[in-house]
Amino acid sequence: DLHRVDRRQRQDVYKRQTEEFEKAICEYTGAEDCSSMSSGSDSIIAALKALNIGPNDQVLTVGHTFLSTTESILNVGAEPIFIDIDEFYLLDISQFKKTDRLKAILFVDLYGQTPDIDKIKSFAKEFNLKVIEDAAQSFGSDYKGKKVGSLVDLTCFSFNPLKNLGAMGDAGAVTGKKEYIDKVKQIRNHGRGKSNKIIEGYNLSLIHI
Ligand SMILES: *Cc1c(COP(=O)(O)O)cnc(C)c1O
Repeated sequence: DLHRVDRRQRQDVYKRQTEEFEKAICEYTGAEDCSSMSSGSDSIIAALKALNIGPNDQVLTVGHTFLSTTESILNVGAEPIFIDIDEFYLLDISQFKKTDRLKAILFVDLYGQTPDIDKIKSFAKEFNLKVIEDAAQSFGSDYKGKKVGSLVDLTCFSFNPLKNLGAMGDAGAVTGKKEYIDKVKQIRNHGRGKSNKIIEGYNLSLIHI
């Protein structure tokens, strides 16, 4: 019974289980690193912040999604720029428009499918944009033989009980390059990291490492 053991021991158990979970996600998706999170919505907020997206920045996205996608952009103080969806109800990158303060593309996977990620990445490269994937509904999907989670700068999962991989309550994860995930882990822990330098953060995780 975890509540009978002392606080320190309890924290060690949570930490070990969380790290095992993060490792399993990396193994399954092929991602370099993973940060477990308190929800899918929080994952998107932390991903945007980790990529330094904030006030005065614009993020290209779609309106056909759950509320969190746009909400997260607004929550970091950035401005969503909407483009239309295609016949599969996914971001239609052929309608790409470069706006003056555009910093990132945040696309959404729906109905088990991703949009054309290679085309999205080629626009991103040309215009020096970051790419974030809202994969709240697509854990286990793949694109050209590669699992969602390892394809773009940062991928955001939701493990809300109603999603395709459901936890017992709200939960989520961000995957991507170690350099970015280190920053996500700092943001989920009130901005505290391994050094003494504290950045602006939140409380988005059960364990504080
Ligand atoms: C559910 C969902 C989210 C948010 O996930 P939560 O874990 O509920 O915060 C974000 N984007 C999409 C597309 C979703 O379906």
